[in-house]
Amino acid sequence: MHDYDVLIIGGGAAGLMCAFTAGRRGLRVAVIEHANRVGKKILMSGGGRCNFTNTGTTPANYLSGNPHFCKSALARYTPWHFIEMVERHRIAYHEKELGQLFCDESSKLIVKMLMDECTAAGVRVLTSCGVDRVEAMGERDFRVHTAAGTFRAPALVVATGGLSIPSMGATGFGYELARSFGHAVLPTRAGLVPLTLSGTHQQRFAELSGVAFPVTAEANGASFSNQMLITHRGLSGPSILQISSFWQPGDALVLDLLPGLDALDFLEAQRAARPAAMLHTVLAEVLPKRFAQRLCEVWLTDRPMKQFTPPQLREAAALLQRFPVTASGTEGYRTAEVTLGGVDTHELSSTTMESRRVPGLYFVGEVVDVTGWLGGYNFQWAWAAGHACGGAVCA
Ligand SMILES: Cc1cc2nc3c(=O)[nH]c(=O)nc-3n(C[C@H](O)[C@H](O)[C@H](O)COP(=O)(O)OP(=O)(O)OC[C@H]3O[C@@H](n4cnc5c(N)ncnc54)[C@H](O)[C@@H]3O)c2cc1C
Repeated sequence: MHDYDVLIIGGGAAGLMCAFTAGRRGLRVAVIEHANRVGKKILMSGGGRCNFTNTGTTPANYLSGNPHFCKSALARYTPWHFIEMVERHRIAYHEKELGQLFCDESSKLIVKMLMDECTAAGVRVLTSCGVDRVEAMGERDFRVHTAAGTFRAPALVVATGGLSIPSMGATGFGYELARSFGHAVLPTRAGLVPLTLSGTHQQRFAELSGVAFPVTAEANGASFSNQMLITHRGLSGPSILQISSFWQPGDALVLDLLPGLDALDFLEAQRAARPAAMLHTVLAEVLPKRFAQRLCEVWLTDRPMKQFTPPQLREAAALLQRFPVTASGTEGYRTAEVTLGGVDTHELSSTTMESRRVPGLYFVGEVVDVTGWLGGYNFQWAWAAGHACGGAVCA
């Protein structure tokens, strides 16, 4: 039997942050990770450069059945706290856009930093260590049976993440564990994920794979302006990934193909300036040529600008500004960056992440029903939740 003060299942962003925060307080901490290395999602994040935080983080950047839940942890561990640690470890970084901070070199440096902090705090990290069974023997007496023996502690932290990218070690273990302790788990689904098209809708976009341009994507009252990428299966790019977290099959999805431009003003000005120009030529001024061409083959009538009557021009402008997309679904957990839903926050303390049902049991990071937008917000939640728990556990 291995005795510890805190056992953490899952050596990802939230688990490692929680581990060294608790370890610094003199607690004996063990991290149990079933994959062959810790922080695999950190390594693959941000195209290998890890978008480790967002300086503009606010609770409004998160989706949750309980939007107030994330406030306390985010307020007590801000992006600037994490940046301070990154700078202390001399990791060079840069802002890409909209407050998103990335490593100049590699995500590996973030994992190394977290592991160095764990080592300094005396945390034991076990990898390739699968969990067979978890038992609660009595109040604050947890047993975790693993391939490396049985571990015992008065505090158990579940930091097993979400379901996305199963090939990287993602499992539904945390949700099952939560349910086995009587916790409600809100329905899960893939978020920050490319959308798929099918049938005629897909055929209409076929041959445009690889074309990218800025749009404003709108669904269920949310809207995001950024690049959209047409893929051979459907639509991707930051604007689509963002809106995917707000969209569900059957919901309306509308694109403004000319964000920041009044389409009717533009078309009227072009008709006055270039009456003989064909519509596709005019649209190619503000859209990728191949997309402009396809628009005029399928959705609009291609003719010289002077031949458009005012109502026809208004109709064309309306389509450009509110282009309806019928997506059939998402690419699912295989490519999703996050999992929406998860352990219901109503039964957790927002200051410590402790279960209100089972004293000594904690849930941190993505396994909890708090999901960030694209842009470093998900790691910031993992750091903040891990820090809140690590600072409070066994107090
Ligand atoms: C491709 C990709 C790119 C991303 N890029 C970014 C980005 O740039 N910025 C950003 O903010 N967010 C990004 N994210 C999201 C971010 O990675 C997650 O939100 C974050 O890692 C969640 O932290 P976590 O600790 O809760 O879970 P994870 O980091 O997923 O860690 C969970 C850990 O638990 C382990 N585990 C699971 N089940 C068990 C079990 N039964 N026993 C033992 N261990 C187990 C897993 O192997 C894993 O190591 C990205 C996600 C993906 C998939």
